[in-house]
Amino acid sequence: MNVVILLGAPGSGKGTLASELAKVPGIRHLSSGDLLRGAVKEGSPAGLKAKAYMEAGNLVPDELIAEMIEEVIAADEGTNVLLLDGFPRTVRQADILADLLARKGVHLRGALLLEVADAVLVARIAGRRVCPDCGATFNVATLPPKVEGVCDVCGGALTIRKDDDPATVRHRLDVYAEQTFPLIDYYRARGLLHTVDATGHDLEPKIEAALRKIHD
Ligand SMILES: [Zn+2]
Repeated sequence: MNVVILLGAPGSGKGTLASELAKVPGIRHLSSGDLLRGAVKEGSPAGLKAKAYMEAGNLVPDELIAEMIEEVIAADEGTNVLLLDGFPRTVRQADILADLLARKGVHLRGALLLEVADAVLVARIAGRRVCPDCGATFNVATLPPKVEGVCDVCGGALTIRKDDDPATVRHRLDVYAEQTFPLIDYYRARGLLHTVDATGHDLEPKIEAALRKIHD
């Protein structure tokens, strides 16, 4: 098995790309949220420990997340490339992951960074509209509803999520940058950083570029 780490800002399309890549045989996408939910639901040893942390209102420690990844790797059959999404987020977590993979004899093929200019991200996220009634999402730029401001599915009035207003988005991007730039440097310094231009709306070229980097 090989591991590829996915990195990308909010609005970079990381989630969409990941789910497309996961359709390729041999590629498996594992987000930190799914990892945690899966381990807790299965009641795995790491999952049970994590559950105790969460029930006490505490953050799940990095080492425990790594333990869950270890459980997934140990139970996995037939995955060629495991895409990790949401872990590591910090240099400390990257060190923990590197140790774990070395111990398991799993090859860290690299970190795949989706690069999108901040201005594009802000515009992209600011265009999001959600239906509070049925949860459908639209985007005025890329996926507009048939009638402006009206949900195609149920006819509800579309709104902008608080998280998506431009000031909040800029703040989220600042937080992302502050957190992720050291991680990007970390992988770059080790010759493990691969970038994909994720500016355009077309998914196909991004998938192809990502697959090239993954299989290089
Ligand atoms: Zn609706």
